[in-house]
Amino acid sequence: MRVTQSHYLNSPIEYLKGVGTQRADTLKKELHVFTFNDLLHHLPFRYIDRTKIYLIKDINEDTQYVQLKGRLQGIKVVGNAHQKRLTAFLKDSSGEVELVWFKGIPWVQKILRENAEYLVFGKPNLFKRHFSLAHPEIEPSEAESDSQTAGILQPVYSSTENLKRKNLESKGILKLITSLVAGLTKNDLPEFLPDNIIAKYRLTSRFNAFKQIHFPETEKQLAEAKNRLKFEELFILQLSLLQMKQFRKVNYKGFVFKHLGNYFNSFFKEVLPFELTNAQKKVLKEIRSDLLSGRQMNRLLQGDVGSGKTIVALMCMLMALDNNFQACLMAPTEILAQQHFQNISKLVAKLNISIGLLTSSVKGKERKEILNKLETGELQLLIGTHALIEDTVKFQHLGLVIIDEQHRFGVEQRGKLWRKNEQNPHVLVMTATPIPRTLAMTLYGELDVSVIDELPPGRKPIQTIHRFDSSRLAVFGFIREQIALGRQIYIVYPLIEESEKLDYKDLMDGYESISREFPLPNYKVGIVHGRMNAEDKSKEMERFKKGDTNILVATTVIEVGVDVPNASVMIIESAERFGLSQLHQLRGRVGRGAEKSYCILMTGNKLSSDARERMKTMVMTNDGFIIAEKDLQLRGPGDIQGTQQSGILNFIIADLAKDQRILEVARTEAELLLNDDPLLDKSSNQALKNFLARRKDGSKMWSRIS
Ligand code: ADP
Ligand code: MG
Repeated sequence: MRVTQSHYLNSPIEYLKGVGTQRADTLKKELHVFTFNDLLHHLPFRYIDRTKIYLIKDINEDTQYVQLKGRLQGIKVVGNAHQKRLTAFLKDSSGEVELVWFKGIPWVQKILRENAEYLVFGKPNLFKRHFSLAHPEIEPSEAESDSQTAGILQPVYSSTENLKRKNLESKGILKLITSLVAGLTKNDLPEFLPDNIIAKYRLTSRFNAFKQIHFPETEKQLAEAKNRLKFEELFILQLSLLQMKQFRKVNYKGFVFKHLGNYFNSFFKEVLPFELTNAQKKVLKEIRSDLLSGRQMNRLLQGDVGSGKTIVALMCMLMALDNNFQACLMAPTEILAQQHFQNISKLVAKLNISIGLLTSSVKGKERKEILNKLETGELQLLIGTHALIEDTVKFQHLGLVIIDEQHRFGVEQRGKLWRKNEQNPHVLVMTATPIPRTLAMTLYGELDVSVIDELPPGRKPIQTIHRFDSSRLAVFGFIREQIALGRQIYIVYPLIEESEKLDYKDLMDGYESISREFPLPNYKVGIVHGRMNAEDKSKEMERFKKGDTNILVATTVIEVGVDVPNASVMIIESAERFGLSQLHQLRGRVGRGAEKSYCILMTGNKLSSDARERMKTMVMTNDGFIIAEKDLQLRGPGDIQGTQQSGILNFIIADLAKDQRILEVARTEAELLLNDDPLLDKSSNQALKNFLARRKDGSKMWSRIS
């Protein structure tokens, strides 16, 4: 979005009044602000509403953020050399409240004056029956009255310690932006959205939007500005994604898989152990039509845990084989790759297909042989982990790539497999759990999407129960009952990189206490975790699969894909530490057989409100699509698995969790526009076309996601 031809906006930031070289350096380093235009895009993160000042006596336990006005008294530093803090009391006509700083004390000390009047903003915490505000935003209250821009809503800008040292706290940045906006004219921000869209959604002009987002005179003006800029941001993004999709469709030729031959047909008639669900059939048809189209397939297959994506993947690979192409399936973990290999080998045993497994633990002679056979074309089907994308892996004629549980892979890894044939193979990526629609539209906006929205028949819903650690004994009793019925149990512990050592200890302690509780010879307890070598891991999995072990203690290495139908109880320890999609994914390990299955979420007694909400959601629903939406709401898009590395979610103003409606509209309008004028050749779309062409940031972004 930061594209402009305006001479004024392209000026280097050091030329702005009040900046100079030193401050310019800091602005560049800390905020990536290099030009006037960059600064214009440094938007306020909130506004101080001068009309809303709280009385200190009205603060109670439910109070969120408050703005207070009062005099500062009793500023002092307390504590020892190791643990210093600065405290002061803010007094208004109704009472007093403590302000506390633990960091940056010398700097805070310098700016605070005893008995001066301040405006303070922060979140009150109850501590030993008194309210206090830690690290509040604070500024002298008289300073505003002479501020030229004193509207009712004063913008607040994010800053950093280093900027603050250059007197560029929010107030200082406000001053710079004030002088920047004062010099701004309409010509600096020409309109580029088509007139009909502006009219249809009554969007305010770009020029007004930028002025009003920084200096709104009313709430209405602020809402107008936000709406315009959010729409613009999402519309441009969707337009680019759709253009890219269109470009691929026109330019990327695809192998034509004309025949449904022996492999597919004999599998369908003689091997397929069940009737496909309607959703599976529908998806197979969609994929089949891609494979016949002569264009490269780029399709995302979404489906809830257990919806039967694997069989669909296999049938697609058989289509490739029927047309004398090779196919490969890439899985995110070794356990999952092995499991796919075993299952698929069994399924295609009658078909006389040569199939190989390649992971990082396949070494030496065995590896050489696989690589050889792959290059001569003797090997038809290859299953593996990211070992598949190493440069040494060369196919004779790769026609189809399937990526399972795609969120686990970086985008670069996805791209790499394509380049294994002179013409791009078809690509099908599958998700582990559903992604909210808005996120899918954005992260995978350039892909076609198929959804399996139906589970195979006869599944009994998994009953999910939330238990506190204090009822552990009852849970053990339940495990005993289930084992007596012949079922198997998973017990999963969190293992998070940041706290790996401690987590590992918890896991081992857990394993020991479970082994004590369920002793030999009546019970057998196994364990798998990431630190074990591949061979031991697969032995343990094998024992569990065969039913030799009753209980498998594990980390999230079993999170995705693992399929042991007789396992009917999933116990998740410290469940509050997992995100929703992970919990749902783990729960998906049970409920795969004919027996009633259970998922027990164990947590400590004290839970944050978010954690409580997560547990509630899990207990309430088994529907991955609902859970995905909830996850997005609770955590925001940046935290959803697999999105961090993409960079595509670095919006300046839009928020996928909150702006779903605007996104839907933007997507629809972008589609309409491209249907009407695919290459943006109409004169009414010239401004837009030019704007898109000048988006430099954009081109970087796309290379990151495809
Ligand atoms: P996921 O979509 O989570 O990858 P899987 O492909 O592992 O799900 O399938 C889950 C289980 O459902 C497997 O045991 C599979 O054999 C079974 N399954 C798949 N499709 C059907 C169907 N149409 N009818 C009955 N069972 C099915
Ligand atoms: Mg799967």
